[in-house]
Amino acid sequence: MSAVDAVRALYPAWVPFVAPALSAAMGWVCGRTLVGAALWWLADARMETTPWPERAAYGYEARAGGLWVTVTVSAAVSVVTAAYFSGPLSGLGFGQTLGLTLAASVVGASGPLRRVSVRALGRDPGRRERWRSAASRWIALMGHIVAMLVLAAFAPAEAGAPLLGFVAAGALTAVAWNFGMGARLGRLLGLLGPAPPAVQALVHREAERAGVAVRGIWRMSSVVANAFALPMAKELAFTDPILDLLDEDELTAVTAHELGHLAEPASVRYGRMFVSMALLPLVAARWLIAQVGPIGFLVVLLVINAVLILARRTWRRMEERADHAAHGADVHDGAAYGRALEVIYRYNGMPATMPDRRATHPDLWDRLHASGVTPDWPRPETRPKWRSRLAGVLGLLGGMLVPGVLWHALVYGTTWPQAHLLYGSEAWMLAVQGDNEPDPERALLYFDAALELDPEDWWTAAARVETLLDLGRCVDARQSAEWLPDAPGWVDDATRQFIEDVRAEARACRQ
Ligand SMILES: [Zn+2]
Repeated sequence: MSAVDAVRALYPAWVPFVAPALSAAMGWVCGRTLVGAALWWLADARMETTPWPERAAYGYEARAGGLWVTVTVSAAVSVVTAAYFSGPLSGLGFGQTLGLTLAASVVGASGPLRRVSVRALGRDPGRRERWRSAASRWIALMGHIVAMLVLAAFAPAEAGAPLLGFVAAGALTAVAWNFGMGARLGRLLGLLGPAPPAVQALVHREAERAGVAVRGIWRMSSVVANAFALPMAKELAFTDPILDLLDEDELTAVTAHELGHLAEPASVRYGRMFVSMALLPLVAARWLIAQVGPIGFLVVLLVINAVLILARRTWRRMEERADHAAHGADVHDGAAYGRALEVIYRYNGMPATMPDRRATHPDLWDRLHASGVTPDWPRPETRPKWRSRLAGVLGLLGGMLVPGVLWHALVYGTTWPQAHLLYGSEAWMLAVQGDNEPDPERALLYFDAALELDPEDWWTAAARVETLLDLGRCVDARQSAEWLPDAPGWVDDATRQFIEDVRAEARACRQ
């Protein structure tokens, strides 16, 4: 039995659950209150007014800002909580505490996020529809991203066949999803189905006219109005709202846009598949960190980011190209495409001019003008990005501060003597507990455990010798004292003196 296990055995069975429970509560409370506070600040009453472009600009600022703050708060609170609350007596290690706190924080933030979304969009699709929509997105469309994150969490840190298998599994999932595996899985789960016959007929008619092959046409559960193309699988998917909202001419124009994606050059289609594997290096992250350290891993993240930035340029060109297919070549009525775009943006609460210049799609305002449509509303002002950014930074600080303050209050402010053992993440916490322990036999257990975690803690090593002397074990004390080094330079004067005194005492000890 290890020395740490011996200390664990001194406590009741519920003790290992205290730190995980506190961590989960910390994540939930921080997600709820910090994200709630940020949204209270970001939400402007104009997100409930008309005309819609102004409403969308303010609503989008609050919704996108809220998501961003959720990311910063959850990241900060989970890392700091895991560092402080995954102590030697916790039932969960650092990584597990981090995952638990992260999940709890996102759940805590979901309430405020949902409320601001209902205000901004003016509708509440209900819990069931929201879940189905999220499942459609994360399983049918982005299941390969989820799979790569799961694979990354369980991949081995050593090179070898198992690691290779994990990386291959990630790559295969991405290929499978590009070829429509997600749609099949979604169908199995009841999230997707074949599009209604009228839509099928419309798409086939339009595909024939454009000379594009289509192999599958889906309808999909979602709370947003959207259409997707799977260029490798040659399939299209329409969400339920877009089928409800658009008339035949508008849907024809949107179909022409999506067919434009199916007709992309092979290089772009394969490029899209390659970019869908961008997260693959994460699967090998633990091995990579073991090889080259965190800096090397940071370089990999930067490379991933660079690939995505380069890809976005091509994607934007492809959007403009597909838009041209929808309104160009005077086959189509540009007005119908313009109407469709406005209906979709309005329903989804997407601003006509986006604050992010790097978005994959051009702004609605520019897309309308390119279609030859002049909107009957003025170009809306773009909401500044600094508000969301500042909220994100404050969320990061809050998420670091709250767990830190609570931990210090528990460790230094409580009268319960075991508190620091429950929450401490460092070996010296065990040493402090040993020092407070009146029973020298038990104190010895704490010192052994502390030294097991940090063998170079010279103060603890000396305190252990002193405890052996208290127990009258002169031989053990003298032997252990031999191991005490001449105190290294970084040891403070008091500890240096303590080591010298204990050493002299051990030498003088006679049974
Ligand atoms: Zn498109």
